[in-house]
Amino acid sequence: MKFIDTHAHLYAKHFTEDADAMIMRAKNVLEAVYLPNIDMTSIEGMLQICHKYPDFLFPMMGLHPCSVDKDFEKTLLKMLQLIEDSMNGKQDSIKYTGIGETGIDLYWDKTHFEEQKEALLIQIEWAKRFRLPIILHCREALDIVIEIIEKNHNEHLSGIFHCFDGNFFQAKKISEIPNFKMGIGGNITYKKSALPEVLENIDLQHIILETDSPYLPPTPHRGKRNESAYLTLVAQKLAEIKGVGLREIAHITNENVKEIFCSQTYSR
Ligand SMILES: [Zn+2]
Repeated sequence: MKFIDTHAHLYAKHFTEDADAMIMRAKNVLEAVYLPNIDMTSIEGMLQICHKYPDFLFPMMGLHPCSVDKDFEKTLLKMLQLIEDSMNGKQDSIKYTGIGETGIDLYWDKTHFEEQKEALLIQIEWAKRFRLPIILHCREALDIVIEIIEKNHNEHLSGIFHCFDGNFFQAKKISEIPNFKMGIGGNITYKKSALPEVLENIDLQHIILETDSPYLPPTPHRGKRNESAYLTLVAQKLAEIKGVGLREIAHITNENVKEIFCSQTYSR
């Protein structure tokens, strides 16, 4: 019984000391990890580690909302070229498995709100065009992003509301968008989290698991570095909330992941 971590930044500098040991620990409990990109500076490290573990780590391509600045259009053009090259087999065997992470973050800085929206819309178009799932980061902006997805949805759009931390109404809304899932991470284990109550009445078919490593470590690792192997703590908490076994959590969430990432990128 193994799980899938759908969101981890395993190329982060937090892992340079012990990357291989960390990946081994992850391999004991996981069958795959999906790596979202941040900006131009994170691409090389991401591809390096994915090349090293090609059947275990899967890269994605996109621009994080916190990295959107006045030059975002130029950056997106470069990223689009990389995706096209990988699609055409030019980028030695690397295949991007998703678009992101993109989205809107109004927590840190609202200066580039309009640019963030524009960058999100462009990446939604890529997701449709390349038939790749879109990975959505929403901070203080969940309703805005839900509305944008609803407005731009078609049968070719699928994706993940990464690090879902919304209320029941928002969870319900997402569960009604075809081919979209909620990524549930370490915050479900936090004492003050409202997520357990929210998810009690949300069907498991709408849920996938993630760590967001090295960030958001689950209890009892709070305040330290998170890593993909800790995904089991998230799964355990979810099993508790839903009153089912870990095996069922693994089975359903893995099926959900395969539905989102399709067979073109993930075939087992
Ligand atoms: Zn992330």
